[in-house]
Amino acid sequence: MGFLTGKRALIVGVATDRSIAWGIAQAMRREGATLALSYANDKFKERVVPLAETVEAITLPLDVSRDEEVAAAFEFIRHEWGSLDILVHAVAFAPREALAGSFVDNTSREAFQVAHDISSYSLTALSRGAAPLMAGRAGAILTLSYLGAVRSLPNYNVMGLAKASLEANVRFLAADLGPRGIRVNGISAGPIKTLAAAGIGGFRKMLGRVAAAAPLRRNVTLEDVGNAAAFLCSDLAAGITGEITYVDAGFNTVGMSFPEDDEP
Ligand code: NAD
Repeated sequence: MGFLTGKRALIVGVATDRSIAWGIAQAMRREGATLALSYANDKFKERVVPLAETVEAITLPLDVSRDEEVAAAFEFIRHEWGSLDILVHAVAFAPREALAGSFVDNTSREAFQVAHDISSYSLTALSRGAAPLMAGRAGAILTLSYLGAVRSLPNYNVMGLAKASLEANVRFLAADLGPRGIRVNGISAGPIKTLAAAGIGGFRKMLGRVAAAAPLRRNVTLEDVGNAAAFLCSDLAAGITGEITYVDAGFNTVGMSFPEDDEP
C-alpha cells in the first residue's frame, strides 16, 4: 500500500510530460493518491487530458490569474470530492524579455507585477480556496521554488524576486494555517529542462554548470523532485512545515568545487 493511499491531491501546473508537476503527479499516483490535474487554458487542455487519463485523474480548467477561475476550481473539487488533502502549486510566469540580459534594464513595472502575481500571489489565492476543504484533515500544500530566491543568477532576474516572495509566502501561510492542521512547504529544485525553463536565457549552460559543480555531479530528475514532493505531502512529513527543501543534487551547499579534479 502506498504512503498516500486515501489522499486526494489537486495538482496545478502540468503543461507537458516534462513538467515538474507531472513528475509529482506520477509519484503521488504511485503512492496511492487520487488526483485532479488542472490546465491553464484550452491549448494546454489538449496535452493535459491524455496525461491525466494515464493516472486516472479528473481534470479542470484553472488560470490562476483569474479570481473567478480559482473560485470555480475549488467549487469543482468540493462537488467532486467534498474535501481535499493535498494542493501542489507548480506555476510560474514572467514575460520572456524580463528573463534575459540586464536585470536593471529589463525589469519593467509590468513584468514585475505579472511575475509576482502569477508566481507568488497565486499560492496565497489557491491556499485560501483549499483551506476550507482541508478542514479537519492533515492538509498539505507544496510549491516549487528555485535558488534564484536567495542568490543572484544570470538571466533569472525578476523571477528571483518573485521566488523570494514565494518562499516568504510559504512561511506566512505555514504560520497562518498551521493551527488548522495544514502544513505548507516548498521544494527548491535544481534546473530541469521544461517549457518554463526554456524561457530563461542560457538555461542549457546552467544545466552544465550545475552538473559539473554539484556534489552528486548530475542534474536532478522529475523523479527526484516527484518523490520528495510525495514525501513532503504525506503523513510521513507530519512534523515539517514552513520549510524550503532543496532537491538540487546539493548544488546550493557548495561554495566552490574543482570538477576537473574528478578526472583520474
Ligand atoms: P512548466 O512549463 O512545465 O510548468 C509551468 C506551469 O505554469 C505550466 O503548467 C503553465 O501552464 C503554468 N502556468 C503559467 N501561467 C499560469 C496561469 N496564469 N494559470 C495557471 N497556470 C499557469 O515548467 P516547470 O519547470 O515544471 O515549472 C513548474 C514550477 O517549478 C515553476 O514554479 C518553476 O518556477 C519551478 N521550478 C522549475 C525549475 C526548472 O528548472 N524547470 C527549477 C526550480 C523550480
